[in-house]
Amino acid sequence: MATGTPVRPHMLINGKLVEASDGKTFPVYNPATRAISAHVPEASIDDTNAAVAAAKAAFPAWSAMGGAKRAGYLKKLAALLRENKEELARLDSIAMGVPVATHHYALTAAANFDHYSEAWTTVQGQASVNTPGLVTMTLRQPYGVVALIIPWNAPCHFLGSKAAPALITGNTVVLKSSEKAPLAVARIAELVSEAGFPPGVFNIISGHGVPSGQILSRHMDVRALSFTGSSRTGKLIQEEAARTNLKKVILELGGKSPALVFEDANLEKTVEQTQFSIQVNSGQVCMANSRIYVQKSIASKFIEAFKTKFAGARAGNPLDKETNHGPQADEIQYRNVLKYIEEGKKSGTLALGGNGKLESTNGFFIEPTVFLDTPETSRITKEEVFGPVVIINTFETEAEAIAKANDTEFGLYAAVYTRDVSRAMRVAKALESGYVGINCTSPLTGIDLPFGGYKSSGQGREGWLYSMNNFLETKSIIMQIDEA
Ligand code: NAD
Repeated sequence: MATGTPVRPHMLINGKLVEASDGKTFPVYNPATRAISAHVPEASIDDTNAAVAAAKAAFPAWSAMGGAKRAGYLKKLAALLRENKEELARLDSIAMGVPVATHHYALTAAANFDHYSEAWTTVQGQASVNTPGLVTMTLRQPYGVVALIIPWNAPCHFLGSKAAPALITGNTVVLKSSEKAPLAVARIAELVSEAGFPPGVFNIISGHGVPSGQILSRHMDVRALSFTGSSRTGKLIQEEAARTNLKKVILELGGKSPALVFEDANLEKTVEQTQFSIQVNSGQVCMANSRIYVQKSIASKFIEAFKTKFAGARAGNPLDKETNHGPQADEIQYRNVLKYIEEGKKSGTLALGGNGKLESTNGFFIEPTVFLDTPETSRITKEEVFGPVVIINTFETEAEAIAKANDTEFGLYAAVYTRDVSRAMRVAKALESGYVGINCTSPLTGIDLPFGGYKSSGQGREGWLYSMNNFLETKSIIMQIDEA
């Protein structure tokens, strides 16, 4: 197994591992040490267009190949991902700081490639029985060139959950990694090459949102685009799509997820789970429960236990197996989180943490931070912080809890903790959220359930029973039968 850092990672365009055509690179730093990790190719406009052209040229043969044969390539890639899981964890870690001990994303990517390599047989059409004189059918057909734009917080996972269903359904792909975490994805580009995918079927480029992401969003030959990232970027992509060819756009966006804790909840379990939700990946998780609403009667008990647990996060070198609390992904994220913490100190009551550790650690570490009594209208309560920062506020009645939980532009994941089954279901039905956990919270999800956001958290759903639909057009065919 190769272990060296790809000092000059490559892009995969038309089956060739290449540098940027104009030789441009951008640096990626290890956020735990600020040492340089790699110089990464910055895809130019020409490179992006070349990747789309290669995908377009590869589409006829790939789509005609049939699912069983396509599945063979996906299976090979799944095996290679598993073989290289430790290296992929290390590469993500030295790019965006995830502790290797918590990095399971190469395995989830592999699971996606394995799953879809079997699932293609479930793609079927329909026939109507309500059309006298006609024989009818629907065909499910691939779009053609599909663009996939992924974020930095779990790159391997998003590569797998998007590319596998797009490829197995006969589309060809151009995937753009995030500028903050391109290293594991660049290594996967080598594995795609090793798996022997025909040239142009699966292209992988690296670079910033502009130019490469923007070019993909407005490209006339890209027929569908699946994006995971911030709501701000999602809106820009939607605008570009609307201005150009109205490509199909699937958006998985940000969150400000609430957890509602009623007085009859199992306190120990609730503290354990809600703390993990906001601590894992240093709070850089779209569905992290960043707002916790606790019933007043148990608030002080809950807050004390939560603080103790949260303060126990083990910050340190993310390559060390003992570490479970890494730095923020880069300086931009670090400064952004600190800005919100300063705002929180003015609007609420700081109960834990509140400090950046750059001076003492030389890395972009932020202490687990808790704010109490923060006004519902404050920026730190309303906006996505994307750090280990939680708001804990209180409520007295069920109606008040629901109103506070729903008073947000986001709607990705919500949780309710109570032993009262009727209340749990009442609240679950009332929450404006694409996912609701009852006596559990994020990141727990069911792999074959639809995942996606209400409101500004996105449009469309992903999941093992859903994602292939995102990459298939539906055509109705009718045939008139001559009367005997
Ligand atoms: P981001 O929007 O800054 O970047 C995401 C991707 O979009 C990157 O590859 C980036 O280069 C690209 N991009 C940036 N500007 C672009 C443009 N103008 N046109 C096209 N592409 C562009 O998001 P991020 O900081 O990488 O990720 C964090 C965000 O992602 C958070 O808001 C988080 O909640 C969200 N997220 C959502 C989910 C989900 O499933 N709903 C999962 C993970 C992360």
